[in-house]
Amino acid sequence: MRMILVGPPGAGKGTQAKRITERLGIPQISTGDMFRAAVKDGTEMGLKAKEYMDKGALIPDEVVIGVVKERLSKPDCAKGFILDGFPRTLAQASALDNLLKEIGTAIDHVVVIDVPDDDLVRRLSGRRTCRNCGFMYHIEFNPPKKPGICDRCGGELYQRDDDKEETIRNRLKTYHAQTEPIVEFYSSKGLVRKIDGTGSMEEVEKAIEKEIGA
Ligand code: ADP
Ligand code: ADP
Ligand code: ZN
Repeated sequence: MRMILVGPPGAGKGTQAKRITERLGIPQISTGDMFRAAVKDGTEMGLKAKEYMDKGALIPDEVVIGVVKERLSKPDCAKGFILDGFPRTLAQASALDNLLKEIGTAIDHVVVIDVPDDDLVRRLSGRRTCRNCGFMYHIEFNPPKKPGICDRCGGELYQRDDDKEETIRNRLKTYHAQTEPIVEFYSSKGLVRKIDGTGSMEEVEKAIEKEIGA
């Protein structure tokens, strides 16, 4: 199964990708997580990426495509993968197309998770992530048992730098202007499965299962 999760920031891509990964045993490839790891490691790429991320802007296509190309060539991707947060522009979508053609494969499903902007602001402002294992919480909708501590590993929970209201607004604008056009691109290929992302995490998971038949 080769699938793409598309949706605005806060739609639940990461949350759902983790669930599908556990169920199907295929890797989650989150470009956001990869860039945050590069920022944490203080690599040259990380330093550059941070400038864009802090503004709520997209990292240049060449950089992102290079990173994804390398990741998809790893053996764990041979049986399938879930792309979370990539592609985010038409240029990235067509680069991915070419990349997969070269290795004789293609995307099976493009799952588009729809959530209205007002809900997204609420979701993103309450999002907390485990510094240690990357698991995601929400202070209202999915709180940890002990505030600030990860249920799974005891790690410290933190709020992302870009989950502040002003940056959130920029990220939403960026999504509508630069990422939404890829939905049309994949629609014309008959790959798009639209999901109402406003239900509970379980409801959204069920809806995705139904659409992808797995
Ligand atoms: P969210 O899904 O909450 O919007 P991500 O973790 O996917 O956040 O992305 C965080 C930031 O990382 C983005 O705002 C952008 O700056 C950068 N980024 C992640 N993926 C891409 C991509 N495919 N193309 C360009 N920039 C990206
Ligand atoms: P994305 O990867 O698309 O940016 P996340 O999966 O990180 O989104 O979800 C954003 C925030 O919203 C997180 O705090 C998460 O716990 C919460 N969340 C995810 N799905 C739902 C849902 N169906 N209902 C309520 N909150 C949700
Ligand atoms: Zn943890």
